[in-house]
Amino acid sequence: LPKINTNAPAPPGFEGEGFFATKLSNLIGMARSYSLWPLPFATSCCGIEFMATMGPNYDLARFGGERMSFSPRQADVLMVCGTISKKLGPILKEVYTQMAEPKWVIAVGACASSGGIFDSYSVLQGIDKVIPVDVYVPGCPPRPEQILEGFMQVQALSQSESLRRRDLPQYKELLESFNIN
Ligand code: SF4
Repeated sequence: LPKINTNAPAPPGFEGEGFFATKLSNLIGMARSYSLWPLPFATSCCGIEFMATMGPNYDLARFGGERMSFSPRQADVLMVCGTISKKLGPILKEVYTQMAEPKWVIAVGACASSGGIFDSYSVLQGIDKVIPVDVYVPGCPPRPEQILEGFMQVQALSQSESLRRRDLPQYKELLESFNIN
């Protein structure tokens, strides 16, 4: 399992004897990162590894991600697990668009990241052709430990990112520019 860096610097704030002060945004970031609700968009074999990740052996619940959401409107992390055909691309984009900000995307496995072994006319060569991706998890399929590592990367992002990143005009233009040609 990924090791926790115990030498990491403490969050910005003031530590003194008997009290600790920090910014409200740091507290909100910490609360957000341990209550991320994943939406599994599982289409094929990588979805089976995601199921193992949710099971008692690997247990995503330890990271606060046990509450799966099958409604995009109540989800924070879109986890795309499996091969995405070009016909499915617009549906994936629609699901992403329905999620409220702030939101993050993990491409789980080679197929979601780059099309994987399916270098074919019918398969999307990576979901980043239709939606922005925050974390790519390699492997065919990736092991549950790798999926956990990807989730922890999103936790780290979510501590410091808020609505502000997605409010940038460049980001909106980027989203509008995605198509599946
Ligand atoms: Fe299946 Fe491999 Fe594609 Fe995952 S990356 S969906 S295991 S073919």
